[in-house]
Amino acid sequence: MNTTNNSTAVELTGVGKTFGATVEALQGIDLAVGAGEFVSLIGPSGCGKSTLLRVVADLEQPTTGTVAVGGKPARQARIDQDYGIAFQQAGLLEWRSVVENVELPLHVHGVAKQQRRERATELLELVGLADFAASRPSQLSGGMQQRVAIARALAPRPKLLLMDEPFGALDEMTRERMQAELLRIAGETGAAVLFVTHSIPEAVVLSDRVVVMSPRPGRITEIVDGCRPRDRESVELAPDDVEDVRESSRFFAAVTAVREALRKGHE
Ligand code: ADP
Ligand code: MG
Repeated sequence: MNTTNNSTAVELTGVGKTFGATVEALQGIDLAVGAGEFVSLIGPSGCGKSTLLRVVADLEQPTTGTVAVGGKPARQARIDQDYGIAFQQAGLLEWRSVVENVELPLHVHGVAKQQRRERATELLELVGLADFAASRPSQLSGGMQQRVAIARALAPRPKLLLMDEPFGALDEMTRERMQAELLRIAGETGAAVLFVTHSIPEAVVLSDRVVVMSPRPGRITEIVDGCRPRDRESVELAPDDVEDVRESSRFFAAVTAVREALRKGHE
């Protein structure tokens, strides 16, 4: 189906990307991410996961194919700042305090000063950094900087989040807490998430669908259903729900399915 509309968060059609004359990073990518859907990209290092995300964010131009974001051309969606981004590098502005960094996208969206500060403070609490609001980014550890970047991405409650190994620098406990928080926030705001990870359990626990990619040139070899826990009617998703998933048999089955798909892609 090629009809692009507002209920499709991201639609990639025949997307390929070649760097220079010879480095074919992506080939023939067809993928649609529905509104509110959580989709992970997983594959060996160098298979084009970051490139794919950068193409969606209009930070790279595809060599072939088309990209639509929320029914708009990728470029228009970037200009309108329709999505939040959290990439491997936190990319914070050193001359602004932590809370001012989180406020930045709200500023761009024209949110009034007091509401900006309230929202940013609430998000810093969420990522456990309320005490560091007035600090400069360089005073924080790498993991803490990454949590600031995640808070910043979430601030305007975007309908789409693009995340490239955002939890890679975090210790295991913080990582699991952030995973549960991300699921809660995505559920609460109805945001779609396109999420790059090289952790199979992380992809499975978070996702509606796990997209498995082949070694370069990156192609989609398989799509496996993930185990994303959802809110039940009027009951908010709690960390325990995520914990239950990690201990369930369907979780282990999905992890095995993704691992086998990755192995097949390597043959
Ligand atoms: P992944 O995120 O899956 O590890 P990347 O998307 O970063 O992979 O890279 C895919 C391939 O494209 C790699 O071979 C990488 O070296 C190459 N590549 C990525 N960005 C560039 C660039 N700006 N110029 C040239 N080659 C690039
Ligand atoms: Mg990458």
